[in-house]
Amino acid sequence: SNRLVVVLGDQLDRQSALFDDLDAGRDRVWMTEASAEASRDAVHQQRLVLFFAAMRHLRDELRGRGVTVEYHAIEDHPPGAAPRSLADHLADDLDRLRPAEVVMMECGDWQIEQALCAVIAERGIPLDWRDDRHFLASRADFARWAEGRRSLTMEYFYRLMRKRYGVLMEGDQPAGGAWNFDKDNRAAFGAEGPGALPAHPQFQPDALTAGVIAAVRERYADHPGDAADFNQPVTPAQARAALDDFIEHRLPAFGTWQDAIWTGEPLLFHARLSTSLNLHLLDPRDCIEQAEAAWRAGRAPLNAVEGFIRQVLGWREFIRGVYWLKMPDYAELNALGHEQAMPAFFWDGDTEMACLADAMEGLLTHGYAHHIQRLMVLGLFAQLYGVHPYAFHRWHMAMYLDAVDWVSLPNALGMSQFGDGGVVGTKPYCASGAYIDRMSNACAQCRYNPKKAVGDTACPFTTLYWDFLDRHEAQLGGNRRLQFQFRNLQRKSDAERSEIRQAAAALRTRLADHGGGG
Ligand code: SF4
Repeated sequence: SNRLVVVLGDQLDRQSALFDDLDAGRDRVWMTEASAEASRDAVHQQRLVLFFAAMRHLRDELRGRGVTVEYHAIEDHPPGAAPRSLADHLADDLDRLRPAEVVMMECGDWQIEQALCAVIAERGIPLDWRDDRHFLASRADFARWAEGRRSLTMEYFYRLMRKRYGVLMEGDQPAGGAWNFDKDNRAAFGAEGPGALPAHPQFQPDALTAGVIAAVRERYADHPGDAADFNQPVTPAQARAALDDFIEHRLPAFGTWQDAIWTGEPLLFHARLSTSLNLHLLDPRDCIEQAEAAWRAGRAPLNAVEGFIRQVLGWREFIRGVYWLKMPDYAELNALGHEQAMPAFFWDGDTEMACLADAMEGLLTHGYAHHIQRLMVLGLFAQLYGVHPYAFHRWHMAMYLDAVDWVSLPNALGMSQFGDGGVVGTKPYCASGAYIDRMSNACAQCRYNPKKAVGDTACPFTTLYWDFLDRHEAQLGGNRRLQFQFRNLQRKSDAERSEIRQAAAALRTRLADHGGGG
């Protein structure tokens, strides 16, 4: 009997459970580029190219092996017709093809998983459900670990994963005598800057990808970014080449400069492997093994290797666990009661704030920002400004090539905006312009002064930082990890605090009215 094997855009691992028993003579693979998901927000053009090009490469590989692939390409959707979701397409195809069974694997998006399962269930078609082996901790593993814990601390989960998989261990002790070396990973570049930087690999589009670029440029011309600049891996072989390049050329310096920002250098020593990981073109085990091997061979220092491995084996698995443990309620959380819309410069980069203009330029060019720009420039501004955490997540999903719902919600709504009130972090990441001044060279190029909270040259970060503490004093004043900040706030006179409130209100009005120019 015939089966329909559903393969989603973030399930492109050729070794996944979906393909364990694929029978070219009997089964069909189903893949869809959905116009509804592509046009729900102003999705970065390169994000559309990434997903569609990577999907089409898998489609053609499967067809090359004689597998029938039911494939809906974006060009098949008549321009002007109502957008159609994955679930819409699947419903039609189930009615048309009438498979005896549907094979599906755990999704990366709660809503999509629900919607697709509902369409299948409504038709009474049996569902063969598969675990996603891409992850080192299954949903059930994580739930078992979390059970009975008062708080979920990434560090304990990470240590367990290190021990379970024997990663960077010497007997039962962590390599180098410590679980983390973060104190070595916070350097700024200083006045002389980063010097000559290793080039990042460029994956030139082949004919298949070039076709996607043309289609996206035509259909989504008004979306942010330019599809023509696309140069990301779209096959497993390219993804492995990107990993090799990182291990050899950038991993050795990655740790030390992990938190540093330098204007005009959006990529620095970062791995930029998250697109390949999150589309499952790259196996996280390969990343972990190769990084550890580089350290054991004396090709990269432990602070860099441990910092990288913690992201892959610790943080990434942890937030995926949190997502499946807490959904669907997690998406609704808004602990700080923030209600603002995203200021317009988050879409077009039109702002006089040098740090934000620089981060936005990188984001528009590459669909990427490294973690400290995401968290401490773009994310920090949104949080201090008071953006609704789900609106921030939607923006994050639209603008970043590597965002998938399970990645974005805990990172964007949770860690960055503190919307979850402390599930993934213990306090909001609040900092003033002084932090950005310490970690980057942006302030020297800016018309604002990071030290000033009020007046014509007041740095909006600094204004909003004090305003944030002032607004949330009742709710957050008792948080031990914010004591230092609140003590400083309480040193300000009532008159100073009132001036800050007025400056923040004026800034919000300006940004809401004009979008850019803040
Ligand atoms: Fe950013 Fe403020 Fe520094 Fe300007 S002064 S670059 S707005 S932190």
